Amino acid sequence: MQLYSEADVDISCLQDKQISILGYGSQGRAHALNLKDSGFNVVVGLRRSGASWAKAEADGLHVKELAEAVKGACIIAFLTPDMVQKSLYAAIEAEIPDAATLLFAHGFAIHYQQIEPREDLNVVLIAPKGPGGLVRRQYEEGNGVPCLVAVDTDKSGEALQLALAYAAGIGGARAGVIETTFAEETETDLFGEQAVLCGGVTELIVAGFETLVEAGYQPEVAYYEVMHELKLIVDLLHEGGLRKMYEFISDTAAWGDMISGPRVVGDESRAAMKAVLSDIQDGTFARNWIAESEAGMTEFKRRMDADLQHPIEKVGADLRSRMDWLEN
Ligand code: NAD
Ligand code: MG
Repeated sequence: MQLYSEADVDISCLQDKQISILGYGSQGRAHALNLKDSGFNVVVGLRRSGASWAKAEADGLHVKELAEAVKGACIIAFLTPDMVQKSLYAAIEAEIPDAATLLFAHGFAIHYQQIEPREDLNVVLIAPKGPGGLVRRQYEEGNGVPCLVAVDTDKSGEALQLALAYAAGIGGARAGVIETTFAEETETDLFGEQAVLCGGVTELIVAGFETLVEAGYQPEVAYYEVMHELKLIVDLLHEGGLRKMYEFISDTAAWGDMISGPRVVGDESRAAMKAVLSDIQDGTFARNWIAESEAGMTEFKRRMDADLQHPIEKVGADLRSRMDWLEN
């Protein structure tokens, strides 16, 4: 594994150069503010009609229309939703300066060939392993969120240096930057969010809730057991892995974990994980998601509405409204 820390980075390659941040959502806002506070010259590119324009200006940033923002840029960071990046690239390509560097926070558009960059451009990835809010908060506290770095195309011979300087500017080098490839970052990121982080864990929670409620237990008690308390366990895992969790839970919980966990996530779930991974690797997932996006996201909205109508949402909202300390 190749790991870079602040000592390995020479930020002077970005001094007095313009960094254009396209998009001002979760990642865009965090990157733009961190880079500005690190002393870099940042321009935010947005649609005039979009809701983020006023917000970025109120945050003290220099904002321009997308095509204008790209002019004069050394690095152009694509921090819009992945499905928008293809048409965005087509709209701004003519304005991209010679030998500039395109930077992505997730490899989707490049790995699945949504964008085929002009011959003269560098193409790099700096992917923070955390949401934008955390990237900003950690930076403000003097820390950083670890990042992955990858170089797809190095035309200028300094693509890696530029990417690392950007990573340092957003605070990521304080925590360490691990070298990867666009393929590895894209495929593992998609797999993680589908099988474990988002898809896997929410399905596990809802199935656990339904199992208890169908057996006649109170929904409120079920909610506390399978949703609320998840955070306590995840915090232990995050801080100290399986060892810390085992140190803090009871022996009864640990024995139940070891005996019953493999029954719930058994051969069938492992086979499903492999199938999910091969859909990601062979491009099936990407093809279907792009088609869904191009068709207007009706199935996306239908499925999300169904999730949000689930009884666990109503029970959860009622209980959380009594917990003043939660941000809800
Ligand atoms: P987001 O949805 O939070 O923000 C998108 C922003 O893009 C909007 O605020 C808007 O300013 C702009 N935008 C939307 N539609 C646009 C259009 N048609 N034309 C121009 N601009 C438009 O996005 P995000 O979650 O920050 O994701 C940005 C990138 O970062 C993606 O590649 C994503 O995969 C990656 N990423 C996200 C996270 C995360 O936690 N959210 C983590 C790592 C990497
Ligand atoms: Mg789900």
